[in-house]
Amino acid sequence: MGKVLVIGCGGVAQVAIQKCAQNDAVFDEICIASRTVSKCDDLKAKIEAQGKSRSKITTAKVNADSVDDLIALIKSVKPDVVLNLALPYQDLTIMDACLACGVHYVDSANYEPEDTEDPEWRKIYEKRCKELGFTAYFDYSWQWAYQKKYKDAGITAILGTGFDPGVTSVFSAYALKHYFDEIHTIDILDCNGGDHGYPFATNFNPEINLREVSANGSYWENGHWVETKPMEIKREYNFEQVGMKDMYLLHHEEIESLAKNIPGVKRIRFFMTFGQSYLTHMKCLENVGMLRTDPVMFEGREIVPIQFLKALLPDPASLGPRTVGKTNIGCIYTGIKDGKKRAIKIYNVCDHQECYKELGSQAISYTTGVPAMIGTMMVMTGQWKGAGVFNVEEFDPDPYMEALNKWGLPWVVDENPVMVD
Ligand code: NDP
Repeated sequence: MGKVLVIGCGGVAQVAIQKCAQNDAVFDEICIASRTVSKCDDLKAKIEAQGKSRSKITTAKVNADSVDDLIALIKSVKPDVVLNLALPYQDLTIMDACLACGVHYVDSANYEPEDTEDPEWRKIYEKRCKELGFTAYFDYSWQWAYQKKYKDAGITAILGTGFDPGVTSVFSAYALKHYFDEIHTIDILDCNGGDHGYPFATNFNPEINLREVSANGSYWENGHWVETKPMEIKREYNFEQVGMKDMYLLHHEEIESLAKNIPGVKRIRFFMTFGQSYLTHMKCLENVGMLRTDPVMFEGREIVPIQFLKALLPDPASLGPRTVGKTNIGCIYTGIKDGKKRAIKIYNVCDHQECYKELGSQAISYTTGVPAMIGTMMVMTGQWKGAGVFNVEEFDPDPYMEALNKWGLPWVVDENPVMVD
């Protein structure tokens, strides 16, 4: 059917690309392009050695911080869709290049700058903190600003098709379409019950993960943001197939888009589970300055502490063989249907070792990479179409939900869920 150009070849991309190769009726051709081309070549060799996919695979080297480099690549590959699975830092350069070439764009995380001390960015950020009332470094304003340009160019940008954001957002559209006349509250619960056996490691890119977790929390209530100190709000929850876990309220990007796209919603919260050892390590690293994102001088050269820390920590892509246990990620909705109050939970349970057996990856990469393939498929097949910039909850959720069942992330609707107080 068509050709996808995937930018990045890290933990998430490796799953998405292998899933595209499984789905060879849709993805005739896959070009894998990243900074370290040897990783792309290794993945191509792995897929080809299995001999199961009819997709033609090519690889390329690209510096995704350079719009010119990206334009040259897109012009030579001529893809139907670009799937951005590099880092959030590259969202805008890749969106610019897609715009210049008239090609659809898909990603899994919203823009944040690499250098949060950059004075030009900081000015806009501080204004936004005051106006909107949350202090996270990432927000949708940068990418939503491309709405008119994408519309005028007649191309589609789909933002945030991972698990959260992504599946959690599609769950919300599905709940609204099939279970509610009005949704009043959404609690998104992200539980990783997996154990990799290391005292400290992150399940996806450490820099992005640690920035997210060490930041202030926030939630949406009655039309505005309420901000909390990091890890200030803690709850216990008994997760199906995982058990009782401590979870903490975080700021998360889909709160911002769901507040805009789910009409009448009164409160949206996001909770993620963390063990005590993870939190103690993180606090200690933060206290000694290892989570700093600005350059510091060390023995005559500049280093960015969090990037140095990343070099010391286990590569998330290497956790696959060691990680046992399950993830349980989903959303609890309350609202009204036919004049009566209702509550449901929609969730998926994913087993780390099953993912490893299938694709050589742990469940965090798997639960992100599968929806990245599905979102791209929605655009490639025209099941989701429209000119402009969209979050996933703005489209018909049904074909995406069906694809989740088919491609490895089956979901459950619980009509009598345990609530979070
Ligand atoms: P990794 O760090 O494992 O992979 C990032 C990849 O991007 C690497 O292959 C890296 O290359 C490449 N890359 C980075 N910078 C550049 C550049 N300037 N030019 C070209 N390539 C570059 O990250 P993950 O796979 O863990 O995460 C990928 C994305 O998925 C991130 O944006 C993350 O935020 C998002 N995510 C979304 C989730 C969701 O549920 N929505 C959950 C988890 C992650 P190299 O190999 O050289 O380092």
